[in-house]
Order: sequence, then C-alpha cells, then structure tokens
Amino acid sequence: MQKVTMFPQSCKGMEDCAICAFVCPKSLFVASGTMNEAGYLPPLPPDQEKCTACGNCMIYCPDFAIVVEGGSADGTEE
Ligand code: SF4
Ligand code: SF4
Repeated sequence: MQKVTMFPQSCKGMEDCAICAFVCPKSLFVASGTMNEAGYLPPLPPDQEKCTACGNCMIYCPDFAIVVEGGSADGTEE
C-alpha cells in the first residue's frame, strides 16, 4: 500500500534542507538526481515497504512536500 506521497515541486532540496532524511527513523530519504522546477534536488520517494508510516517526515517537512497515509502519529500501523 502506498504510504508516502511526495510533492517534489514544493521541496527546497536535500542540499539545503534534508529534514525528512534527519527525522526518518528508517533513513529512507536519499537525494534524487532530478531537479525540480525551482532548481532543487528533492529526495526520491521513500521505500514504501520499509516505511512505518510514523508521519515524522510529513510533520517536519517545512514545505508540505510529503503526505503520509496509513499510519498513526505514534508510529504504529493501523
Ligand atoms: S512516515 Fe516515517 S518511516 Fe515513513 S518515510 Fe516518513 S519518516 Fe520515514
Ligand atoms: S523536509 Fe521537505 S523540503 Fe526538506 S528536503 Fe525533505 S521533502 Fe524537501
């Protein structure tokens, strides 16, 4: 099941931000090699199989570039 949806055009880039990578307990965010329209390098969509849907990335992304579904705030599966 798809848990994480990325909106890469909203991202300010892994070089300048990378908060998602810092807060993900599974270290699922790595920089993509594809620039968005603003010239930033957003992360690749995380591995959906390894994602626990903890929601950290959605909560801490300052640019609302990540939406997480299918989990709860305490990291347990629903
Ligand atoms: S929901 Fe949690 S485990 Fe999944 S990508 Fe975001 S921070 Fe990582
Ligand atoms: S936290 Fe949001 S803005 Fe920052 S690198 Fe990750 S997706 Fe981009």
